[in-house]
Parts: sequence; structure tokens; C-alpha cells
Amino acid sequence: MNTIGENIAEVVESLPENIRLVAVSKFHPVSAIEEAYQSGQRIFGESKVQELLQKQTVLPTDIEWHFIGHLQRNKVKMIVPFISLIHSVDSPQLLAEIDKCGKAADRIVNCLLEIHIASEESKYGFTYDRCISFLEEGSWKDFTHVRICGVMGMATFTDNLEQVAKEFAGLKQFYDKIKNRYFGDKDYFKEISMGMSQDYHVAVKEGSTLVRVGSRIFGERKY
Ligand SMILES: *Cc1c(COP(=O)(O)O)cnc(C)c1O
Repeated sequence: MNTIGENIAEVVESLPENIRLVAVSKFHPVSAIEEAYQSGQRIFGESKVQELLQKQTVLPTDIEWHFIGHLQRNKVKMIVPFISLIHSVDSPQLLAEIDKCGKAADRIVNCLLEIHIASEESKYGFTYDRCISFLEEGSWKDFTHVRICGVMGMATFTDNLEQVAKEFAGLKQFYDKIKNRYFGDKDYFKEISMGMSQDYHVAVKEGSTLVRVGSRIFGERKY
């Protein structure tokens, strides 16, 4: 079996230079993150606030923590002081809460709009239509402490890579459209977070800038 460091090296070597790897460490112990850190990895993704806080307090301060799971509004204030990027902003109310907590913490918080692109039912993520309505409505322009840096999406869990490619291509197209309409003058609007262990090769071909890879690096998670 490969070590964590070897897995990271393999994934990183397979990525074009400008694409960043988020090592998804959820459900894996601090020791696994330390091993990845020692091999040079600095960006880690977590999906539960409590777990993230426990890890963040004991691990090196130059780690860039990304939040990738469903975020409850009452927990936003706990991560806002240090989080580098929240991938999973899935409602106008959540974005408003992040802005409010950002103000309180005197920090501008980088966010991605999570878009529901998979065919499976999900409670989370904007549909394309809802996202456009939200952007069109415009109240987000008054937020002073959030920075919308791009979009995030998860493809259908399937072996049908053609379908997965289509979903990713759709997200890229949507990204281009809203970049043009709403963020043309914002240099920081540049991220498309798509691709996981199963499908990151496909995502890269379709224009991903951030891949979120967990089990391919750390092994299977124990739930
Ligand atoms: C768990 C998770 C990942 C990583 O999944 P793997 O299949 O282990 O690579 C990526 N993105 C999100 C949003 C996740 O919840």
C-alpha cells in the first residue's frame, strides 16, 4: 500500500500546474493530516465544524483550511476567524450570516456558491435558476465581508463518466456566464471547485481549478 505522501505526490503530478489540490481529511485523524503536511500539502478540506475546530487547534497555523460540507448558520461564527475558503454556500441566508460574522471578526471571508448539478435529489446547493435569481436580485452586492470567488459542484455518483463530464461542463458554462454578467471586474472570481477521488480527472478536463480529493489520498473513511 502507498503512503499518504506517495498518494499526494501521484495526485499532484497528475494535475496541471495551475490547479490546486484540496486534501479532504474529514473523518481521518490528525496523524494522517500531519503525514500529508510533511509531504508538502497545505490545503485541507473538512466538512464538520466540530471536527475542523479540534484539528485546527492542534495543527500548524500555515494550513489553509477549506470548509466543504453543509454549514449551519449558527456555526458560521466559529470558523470565520480562520477559514480560507467556504466551498459550500448554498443559500442567501448563509451568505448573509457569513457577512455578518465576517464583520464581527473584521475579516473578509472567501466563499464559493454551491450549485446542485447532480441528478440525485439533494437539499443542498442552488439550482442554476435560483442562483441566477439570487445574483439578479442583487442584495449580495451590499455585503462588505464576503468575497464570492466562484462556484462549487458535485457530480452524480455514477460510473457513467460521460454524464459526469456533461455535468461538469454545465457548471463551467454557468461559471462563465455569471463571471461575464456579475463578476467581470472581480479578479478574485476565478474558482471552479469540482472533482473528487472518482472523477477529478474528468473535472480537470472540464475546467476545474480546485479538486477536492479524500479517499484517493487517505484511504477509505470509517463512518
Ligand atoms: C467527502 C467529500 C469530498 C471527497 O470525497 P472523496 O470521494 O473521498 O475524494 C469532496 N467534496 C465534498 C463536498 C465531500 O463531502
